[in-house]
Amino acid sequence: MRFWIGIDDTDSSKGMCTTYLSVIIMEELEKARMKVEGFPRLIRLNPTIPYKTRGNGAVSFLVKGDLQEAYEITKNCMETYSMLEDEKTNPGAVFVEVNNKAMNYLHNFAVKAVKDVVSMDQALFIIGKFMIPHIKMKLGRGLIGALASVGLELYDYTLELLAYRKPERFGTERDYDKESFFRADSETYPLTWDTVDWHNDVVVAVPSSPDPVLYGIRGDSLEAIERASKIVITEEVDKRQFFITNQGTDMHIIDENEVNEVENYHSYRLRGTVVEKPYDIEGGHVFFTIETKFGRIKCAAFEPTKQFRDVIRKLEIGDLIDVYGSVKRETVNLEKINVLNLAEVYKMENPTCPVCGKKMESAGRGQGYRCRKCKTKAEDKIKVKVERSIEEGFYEVPPCARRHLSKPLVRMDVEKKHVFR
Ligand SMILES: [Zn+2]
Repeated sequence: MRFWIGIDDTDSSKGMCTTYLSVIIMEELEKARMKVEGFPRLIRLNPTIPYKTRGNGAVSFLVKGDLQEAYEITKNCMETYSMLEDEKTNPGAVFVEVNNKAMNYLHNFAVKAVKDVVSMDQALFIIGKFMIPHIKMKLGRGLIGALASVGLELYDYTLELLAYRKPERFGTERDYDKESFFRADSETYPLTWDTVDWHNDVVVAVPSSPDPVLYGIRGDSLEAIERASKIVITEEVDKRQFFITNQGTDMHIIDENEVNEVENYHSYRLRGTVVEKPYDIEGGHVFFTIETKFGRIKCAAFEPTKQFRDVIRKLEIGDLIDVYGSVKRETVNLEKINVLNLAEVYKMENPTCPVCGKKMESAGRGQGYRCRKCKTKAEDKIKVKVERSIEEGFYEVPPCARRHLSKPLVRMDVEKKHVFR
């Protein structure tokens, strides 16, 4: 029998990781002479869901074997390893036979779980209607991600190699050679990306959370990721696993043409004209407003987006841009922008003397302007075009501020782009 196992919400901010638990389950299944076919899938869901504080990632994998036995093994592993004491951790797992008609429903369900908000009732409805064997622990909210990870079709996908630590090292500081990650990036970019952030001098591949992950290398090429993983120097790797993912695909982005309104907790591409100049608030966050077909919408580049804010600060009233990002509190949290058309900006200056070419001075209130030396005169200030210090094209947040789902420009086939690396 062939069936998908989907699993989600087993971890907490204090530890564990659903990908790691999945690796343990896959090992146990293989010990029981079952076969895991292909790579497991790491599916990132709507990143704005309020009760999810971490990456909101669910895992699924295809198994050939006995479903009842796989169910027992999975349940044992979940009971042993899930962070059940954390109130926000509500694990769920599903077991969906490949020929179950539920698969047709799950494709749409999954897209909704990535772009929109799905209720527990909708998950339980599908489970009931198609009699899907499942494991529901505590509130069982993980059933939503478990179903979605099974159902999502990956028209675009990327890869991630996750390396895990020795269990006795969990919670301690990660021991690794920073420079080796920069070298791995130099030698494999752009087939791998977001391993490091050169500008901000950060190793992005190594998390700082207390979970079992030692590092994760992302990219589009299995071979390049393998090569990068051989370059990096770290403490001992206990387990490693490739995942097929929807990371770096922009799958969470809803195009403005698909909807009639902009709602909180959704992510969009919106076109608009800048109507309020960017301004800084305390903490280094930058805000501005655009006029879209849905009305005026506030946009934000928060402090962690670093040098991306310098691009935003150069926007002027009248610039036509596309913004990409999640809407929270009626504000777009920018992930990238595409500057489509720069407005012509003018400033008023004192006129120039036609004889000596120097700037004229004011001749007194209401008296116009004059050149003291040549005695030339002029009535009014003149309009001078300001040279813009920003170009058209795409700009993105740096790797250290990238969302899992955001498509990095290095993966985008567009003509004008300004990659932060
Ligand atoms: Zn003059």
